[in-house]
Amino acid sequence: MTETVDALAGLVAGGGVVVLSGAGLSTESGIPDYRGPSGAARRHTPMTYQVFTRDAQARRRYWARSHLGWRMIARAAPNEGHRAVARLQAGGLVEGIITQNVDGLHTAAGSPRVVELHGRLDEVVCLGCGNRTSREELDRRLREANPGFDARVAAVNPDGDVDLADDEVARFRTVDCTFCRGGMLKPDVVFFGETVPAARVSRCFELVARARLLLVLGSSLTVMSGRRFVVRAAKLGIPVVIVNQGPTRGDGYAALTVNAPLGRLLPALADRTAGDAAAGLAGVGR
Ligand SMILES: [Zn+2]
Repeated sequence: MTETVDALAGLVAGGGVVVLSGAGLSTESGIPDYRGPSGAARRHTPMTYQVFTRDAQARRRYWARSHLGWRMIARAAPNEGHRAVARLQAGGLVEGIITQNVDGLHTAAGSPRVVELHGRLDEVVCLGCGNRTSREELDRRLREANPGFDARVAAVNPDGDVDLADDEVARFRTVDCTFCRGGMLKPDVVFFGETVPAARVSRCFELVARARLLLVLGSSLTVMSGRRFVVRAAKLGIPVVIVNQGPTRGDGYAALTVNAPLGRLLPALADRTAGDAAAGLAGVGR
């Protein structure tokens, strides 16, 4: 791994790095990567915006599963990979972070200036009036509306990746917006079939255009919403480096691809660049 770290450090040490992160960075925090190496084992079809808004039964099933899965997300803590990115940023090498993750773990690791491309799971938006509330508050309301639900289901699905029986779903009570009284609530994340707000996309393109290097961490770049930044960087002649376990759909644009576990590689990279900077300050030639 030393050679890999050397090669990466050589590229990152010049600064101006923009990070594009995906699910692979959060798997070591216990959040499943449905599109990564284990993607073939995906058990559930992702919810689309169209189904969520039009099908009351599907929406009830979504909230019932999400209500239980939320415990896992709420408990998740940043891992060594997130912390290493925050260190690179504190060291002035990383200019900005674009993340496809909705878990908020970059921010929890202390990174400022994170563009959360697909939103955040800990926020809830009303599709009727646009009011935003915290997921914590919704969690409390859902628990009150469904006494005993958690305990019954948790006994069957301790890992939080929930398969719910139809009768459990049928008994689950969803809740509506209290602000406009009756508006439909949705996690403030971008569902499949939904577009990322244009202003947010523009901010990302601006970040990429100013980058000296685009560093992709833990994304298979399956969906265009993330891959377009790789394509843009390549068009602008900005080198792209991809660190991911397994091949990605952006490999053809990359100057360097690295297949390594992020939780080990990134701390080594942060140590190495910090060491180089310290050596430079001390005037020590190598
Ligand atoms: Zn509302």
